[in-house]
Amino acid sequence: MAVYLAGSPPRKARELAKALIAVTEKMSLCPRCHNLAQGDLCWICQDPERDKSRICVVEDVLDLFFIEDTGAYQGLYHVIGGLISPWEGVTPETLKIDDLMGRLKNGVQEVILALPSTLEGEATSQYLARLLKGKVKVTRLGRGLPVGMEPEFTDSITLGEAMKGREEM
Ligand SMILES: [Zn+2]
Repeated sequence: MAVYLAGSPPRKARELAKALIAVTEKMSLCPRCHNLAQGDLCWICQDPERDKSRICVVEDVLDLFFIEDTGAYQGLYHVIGGLISPWEGVTPETLKIDDLMGRLKNGVQEVILALPSTLEGEATSQYLARLLKGKVKVTRLGRGLPVGMEPEFTDSITLGEAMKGREEM
């Protein structure tokens, strides 16, 4: 972005700064799934057409956008806001896991774990699977994703295939 701005007239930088400020002023986080929202619930939680029996757990909003982009998923999301990492002081209590559990009673049948296949992502998936098992069907993205790969760095077709080919944990 800096390279782009350096080659543009100063007016461009001012416009971009204004746009960024406008976004941060207008945007909030969805109180239900922690996606970006304007006002109350996000557009996904508000959409009556979405499949409310499925919740896809992602690390951050960026991963949510990438999965949306594949068009392979019609359910709801839950952004947990990070990955368990004792080294960085991230424990399950600091993530949005409690309210995920609270959402299960509303007719949810499947929770899809779409977390990175990194060390932290794997630890978080295992933790969630233990917590959720017996309460709901727990699946993860298909093993088509290379080890160490994060959803946001995977192309849309591979990610869509991984969503369709998800496996029960
Ligand atoms: Zn939402």
